[in-house]
Amino acid sequence: MTSTEMKKDIKIRDVWEARKRIGQIINRTPLIQSTILSEKLGRNVYLKLENVHEVGSFKVRGAANKILSLSLEERKNGVATYSTGNHGMAVAFVANKLGIDAVVCISNRVPKAKVDSLKRLGAQIEIVGDSQDEAGVRCYELEYEKGVTVIEPFDDPHVIAGQGTIGLELLEELPYLKDVIVPLSGGGLLSGIGMTLKSNDRDIRVTGVSMERSAVMFESLKTGKPIMLEESETLADSLLGGIGLENQYTFQMVQQYMDDIVLLSEEEIAYSMAFMMDKHRMIMEGAAATGIAAVLGSKIPHQEGDIAVIISGQNVDLSVLLTIIQNYGFEN
Ligand SMILES: *Cc1c(COP(=O)(O)O)cnc(C)c1O
Repeated sequence: MTSTEMKKDIKIRDVWEARKRIGQIINRTPLIQSTILSEKLGRNVYLKLENVHEVGSFKVRGAANKILSLSLEERKNGVATYSTGNHGMAVAFVANKLGIDAVVCISNRVPKAKVDSLKRLGAQIEIVGDSQDEAGVRCYELEYEKGVTVIEPFDDPHVIAGQGTIGLELLEELPYLKDVIVPLSGGGLLSGIGMTLKSNDRDIRVTGVSMERSAVMFESLKTGKPIMLEESETLADSLLGGIGLENQYTFQMVQQYMDDIVLLSEEEIAYSMAFMMDKHRMIMEGAAATGIAAVLGSKIPHQEGDIAVIISGQNVDLSVLLTIIQNYGFEN
């Protein structure tokens, strides 16, 4: 953000506008009831299937809203990102659909499989240095040199409003919704959904879920300001990464709209991934399984009313699934 831009409050109106915009390229996702989880919890448990987007995660909503709101001039100059995960894939996908150039800056440590899937989506790859930080620096150089727009993964009003469209869909489908469980990293997903739900119904409770390892938002909230943490390996790899020491929006919005936070162990996440494969025939990545883990472990802080779990993505390596399947003998 440049100093001439004013920080703006994100309102429900922005989410309605986002919905209109992204409708051109993104379908509404299904909501299903999970009978087995409902029986376990003694309340209706619904799954919001954000894993079924073509790129396998909800990130496509925010990326689409941001890119579709660029001016013609900006579109001509192209977009850039230094995320190689779900956000990078979403940016590449949306840009490709709209015929806009997308550059993904990556370090030379990024695995070939990831580079290949970004290329398949039509992205140009620029390899720089050997850390994510160097890739990030290069991205902003491109902004300065060539006028590309860097698409932020979470701390951007259009991105947050895009993720908020999930909240609109939930409100329309679940009149008795009481609890929403949202995987939490940088907080774009939770900020958008939380603001949307609470603007309509103050009584809906929003619970964030993260892994125990390197839960940066959790530690930042405890400290009262954004902090950095060392990254450790986790099954919920899509939840890794900082929230930005200069965080503009999501830190404050998560403070405002999140009622509770639950942290899950690697063991709980792995078991939940296995459980969903076995009982629902559904593949989800570790980040998405944190919500299921909170349900299975009866860790939802409240006891009654309908509950919706955001199944945020499904991009997980088969080798990881294989290990999980081998580690859990399935009981009936
Ligand atoms: C990015 C991501 C999240 C977390 O979203 P934030 O907006 O960073 O909090 C959760 N799940 C998946 C699958 C993701 O890709």
